[in-house]
Amino acid sequence: MAKLLGALGQTLGWDGARAWLVDREAGLLRCGAVWERAASAERLRELETRRAQRTLTPGEGLPGGVWETGQAAWEDGPGRAASASGADATEPGRQAAACAAISTGEEVAGVLGVLEFHSREARPRDDRLLELLSALGAQIGNFIERTRAEDALGRVELFRTAFENAPVGMALFGTSGDGRGRLLQANAALCDFLARSEEELIGQELHRLSHVEDRDADLAATTTLLDGHVSTSVLEARYPRADGRVAWGIVHRTLLRDEGGHPLYGVAQVQDITERKEAEGQLAHQALHDPLTGLPNRVLFLDRLGHALIRTRRDAAVRPAVMFIDLDRFKVVNDSLGHKAGDEILVETAKRIEFVLRPGDTVARLGGDEFTVLCEGAAQVDAIGVAQRIVDALAVPFTVQGRDVFLSASIGIAASGGPQDSAELLVRDADAAMYRAKGGGGNGHAVFSQAMLDSTLKRLELESSLRRAVERGELCLFYQPQVSLATNAIVGFEALVRWRHPERGMVFPGEFIALAEETGLIVPLGRWVLQEACREAQRWREHRPSWGSLKISVNLSPRQLAEPGLAELVSDTLAATGTRPEDLWLEITESVVMDERMSGAEPLTELKAIGVGIAIDDFGIGFSSLRRLKELPWVDAVKLDKSFVDGVCTTSGDRAIVAAGISLAHALEAATVAEGVETAAQATALRELGCELAQGYFFARPMPGAEIDALFSRARAGG
Ligand code: C2E
Ligand code: MG
Ligand code: MG
Repeated sequence: MAKLLGALGQTLGWDGARAWLVDREAGLLRCGAVWERAASAERLRELETRRAQRTLTPGEGLPGGVWETGQAAWEDGPGRAASASGADATEPGRQAAACAAISTGEEVAGVLGVLEFHSREARPRDDRLLELLSALGAQIGNFIERTRAEDALGRVELFRTAFENAPVGMALFGTSGDGRGRLLQANAALCDFLARSEEELIGQELHRLSHVEDRDADLAATTTLLDGHVSTSVLEARYPRADGRVAWGIVHRTLLRDEGGHPLYGVAQVQDITERKEAEGQLAHQALHDPLTGLPNRVLFLDRLGHALIRTRRDAAVRPAVMFIDLDRFKVVNDSLGHKAGDEILVETAKRIEFVLRPGDTVARLGGDEFTVLCEGAAQVDAIGVAQRIVDALAVPFTVQGRDVFLSASIGIAASGGPQDSAELLVRDADAAMYRAKGGGGNGHAVFSQAMLDSTLKRLELESSLRRAVERGELCLFYQPQVSLATNAIVGFEALVRWRHPERGMVFPGEFIALAEETGLIVPLGRWVLQEACREAQRWREHRPSWGSLKISVNLSPRQLAEPGLAELVSDTLAATGTRPEDLWLEITESVVMDERMSGAEPLTELKAIGVGIAIDDFGIGFSSLRRLKELPWVDAVKLDKSFVDGVCTTSGDRAIVAAGISLAHALEAATVAEGVETAAQATALRELGCELAQGYFFARPMPGAEIDALFSRARAGG
């Protein structure tokens, strides 16, 4: 524009030229361009800064008058220079000016003017010049108008390109009449989002695209916008796709308005948040489910149980029952077959339990081999029925890694007494009942009673103090002599563990061995017993060389047998204490040896290879499996259980069993040890039946190691 002004001023022979443009919004005429003949660079800079500040109101000065009237005007003579009008108060000696409108058809878009200030001569009005200026103004006006129109078109084009290529889903929808809320256009991203073609979408009501449950909210979002209550609305909603999946989107709705502010279209933009929602959903699922079996976890189970209890408020006849299921001997299976096999069994267990439940019941895995079942609205008898079905379902052997594994479960049942029950307490009660079922030999169920809870609490207390006992060295060993029935000479000792409880005094193994076995505490406990017994026995041998071939017997629990590294522990202990293998006897309770399900033979074979003796403890209790004993050629001794020894003189049945046990042991070339011999008559009877060794109060009670020395001295003095 400045160039055009320069050409104009030069050609017409004026000193300066100005172009003013109308600022419609501000209601002002703004100086848009300035030219001055022979202006220095400094002067040009000054003009340029001042230009930006120059404005005129309608009617102000010559250009303001032209703007108002639209008519070209001429001015000549001194005096104007001093006024702020027209142009420049700092232009001394200005004599003349001519202005014409820059017009775009009807309106005045600006003013074009020339001026002279260096001449002292008057410059009379020149109509031809004014005509020329007006024509030029009209040309410039045309040009401005065309540019504006092109701009507008360009914007439309720009919008269309942006709409079509937008990475977010976009739709235009109608704002009134039949088309109100209906799609007019949809872009490619929206079609992808919904997996539908544009043709399918056009004409549809926007809110009908969303999920049934989100439709009301969706419709409200459109309505509040179109009714003018809000200028934008944002909604998160689900959208069923044509391919059956459900997409999640955040939808922004706004209105596109014309220059007068009237709504033209509604614009909906959809941000696809499906991935995020799915990830969130997955996280939520993970937080509430067991990853191995896919069953609900403890959190979800307690939540469902809590809701079931709330429902009992409305309907007192509905009494949920909780079952606590714990697999029997799972630890042994897991340890011997490996965790992968264990996992397979747990998954299969979950399936079997689910299979026998009724619709509406919930099974959850709390962790390890513990499952819970919620029987909603069950009477206690129903729950017992379900428990029996679960026991039956788990009795079928599991096939893992090509072999059959036999498992069973102990189930505790606790029925809700009413809405005052808490979910946690109900589960705790079922847990207590489960322990009762387990204590009864497993493979069955028990229904909760308050007495069970008391004993469970006692158990918990015992467990934590037993844990401390092992760590604090509160355990000690007593030794009970084993005697030859032929000579009455001591041939060895059985080490029996005792617990010197800081408050309760001496606690006997009957009170804590089973618990130690269940909790796994037996492993560190048993290790200590083995090492301590071997150390002590070696000490005797060193002090009393004449008693050199004394045997020391140590009890091994089933859990210790299943623990890997047992043979290593035994040989390390022998080496560390200097005990000869043949002087150590390991007692294993009969039920373990007889249990065909337990692959106990493997660790036993390893122990035999070391050279230690193996004795079968408590023999006779599992008499039905006598046949199996014949398959165990490695047995060195059989310990006849006290319950048969008790009746050996008085009960013919017991005498027969003892006799059979002795002859069987002899057939296996194993020695027999009678346990719990309390009278001389029993000792005589056993000797007559051919039993070699005996142990019992008749000979000596279990005693601390320190008393053994005194016993030796007495025996030597006496013998
Ligand atoms: P057990 O191995 O059969 O040990 C024999 C039990 O009978 C001992 O009970 C012993 O004191 C008792 N006894 C011996 N002679 C007589 C008698 O003439 N009359 C009566 N009434 N009882 C007699 P204790 O010491 O209470 O041990 C009980 C059980 O605890 C043991 O039975 C054994 O199974 C287990 N046990 C003891 N110490 C250990 C240990 O260090 N490790 C493991 N795993 N188990 C142990
Ligand atoms: Mg024993
Ligand atoms: Mg015994």
